[in-house]
Amino acid sequence: MSFKYKVMNTGILGLARAVSYMPDQLLTTLSKKQLEKVRFPEGRDFILSFMKTLKHRWRSLNPNVRKKLVENMVGNYFINSREKRYKMEAELGCSPLLFVISPSMRCNLVCTGCYSAHYDRSDALDYATLDRIMREAKEAGIYYVVVSGGEPFVRDDLMTLFEKHNDMTFMVYTNGTLIHTKKLAPKLAKLGNVVPCISIEGYEAETDERRGKGTYKKIMSAMDSLKKEGIFFGYSVTPTKFNNEMLVSDEFVSFMVKKGASIGWYFNYMPVGRQPDTDLMTSPEQRAYRLKRMGELRKTQDITVADFWNDGMLTGGCISGGRSYFHINSSGDVEPCVFAQFSVDNILNKSLKEVLMSDFFRSIRSRQGEMGNHLRPCMIIDRPQVLRDHVLRFGAKPSQPGAETLLTGKLAAEVDGIATEWKRYADKIWTENGGIPEVDTGHHIGDNHVIHCTTTASKTVKPVATLKPVAAVKPAVKTVVSKTVASKTVVSKTVASKSTAKTNATKIKGSRNIESTQIVDM
Ligand code: SF4
Repeated sequence: MSFKYKVMNTGILGLARAVSYMPDQLLTTLSKKQLEKVRFPEGRDFILSFMKTLKHRWRSLNPNVRKKLVENMVGNYFINSREKRYKMEAELGCSPLLFVISPSMRCNLVCTGCYSAHYDRSDALDYATLDRIMREAKEAGIYYVVVSGGEPFVRDDLMTLFEKHNDMTFMVYTNGTLIHTKKLAPKLAKLGNVVPCISIEGYEAETDERRGKGTYKKIMSAMDSLKKEGIFFGYSVTPTKFNNEMLVSDEFVSFMVKKGASIGWYFNYMPVGRQPDTDLMTSPEQRAYRLKRMGELRKTQDITVADFWNDGMLTGGCISGGRSYFHINSSGDVEPCVFAQFSVDNILNKSLKEVLMSDFFRSIRSRQGEMGNHLRPCMIIDRPQVLRDHVLRFGAKPSQPGAETLLTGKLAAEVDGIATEWKRYADKIWTENGGIPEVDTGHHIGDNHVIHCTTTASKTVKPVATLKPVAAVKPAVKTVVSKTVASKTVVSKTVASKSTAKTNATKIKGSRNIESTQIVDM
């Protein structure tokens, strides 16, 4: 590290410490001008919420963690990598901020319905390959990597990787149990550059029901040790029809804050994997409710929450295909997104830059800018024809068993119905809050007609926390109406409360086998 950057990092560390003593109101006032430059109100709330969370936690964080947050996240991620990213943008037409990598599908747990037991458990990504990918990532200006799986901590060599690339930040999606069993918290504190996000299903009943008896206690122990060591960490949840309201309740989120979590990730159940089940997906009302709650939680809870689908407003829509991120699975297949399990390239025989330049990825990126309503950003569940068209046109191969079921037949028809119903809600919320309605400009790709639009979001969109009641939208699709009604019944039974935990767990058990990518660890 050059002398200039050492001085800069020392200055930022000192500033962060001074800010940690500042009243919240003063921080809000001082950052007002900068925040006004952020396009959407949701984006301003998100950044302000993150700054406050960091400010409140700062002095309780381990000094190594503080140092690495400044050096890696502020210095390398935001400042030093800028030139490299400009170069990438000019050269490739994209410069992703991060990528997700799944070094292994192995796991120490056998959760109900988990897909990983069915997937290839040999680790095609050996240490040398992972090391090469990290080096190429930094050359491309990427200093932030999300590690998923399987359970990442089954591989001890990952700790060596994190240590070797200590100028990068690694966010690790984990079931948390090995943090407890292997006593990893002190080692993570020493490293400082790892942000664990622990998957949890709710309270003890829900978590043990799905992940095995005793898992919840190990997770609690892991969180306690991470908090004690001053590690910046979070939780990760999968909202389904049965737990959506509980997971966004003040009670559950406050509980996670008390346990020391600083970030809460929400990954809506997705019908992907070997036995996808659309009945587990949240209804349109539930998704709209979660959208509203995210806005409220950011203003009222001492934690930063993010919703991978409903936060399209923060990211300007879908971020897949290398626009902001992509996924490398444990076989080395490069997928546009963790949930879009199709690939044309494998990282074992191509460089990071080469895979980002595939026609498949480039076409996906070119379509993202056309999607006007960022409340339905997803080419898998909101605009399923976009994914199908791309897979067909570019000959992308399913990179996980069962991925192809999204393309045709019963599952495809069900996803189409869900997308149509969500469109009615999302378009209403979007336009009522100042978004410009989408229009069909007749764009075609392959042999299929695809709806897209030429509009972009209005700058005057109101905060989602002030959204009008969405119940005003009357369901139009008969088959979806019955699902919606059914889910309302469920909602009334699952409103957050520890006392309802058993009911929820029983319901999940009673449903068909849960089998999805994100139901486990993202
Ligand atoms: S494809 Fe869907 S899930 Fe993947 S990044 Fe885009 S919006 Fe998110």
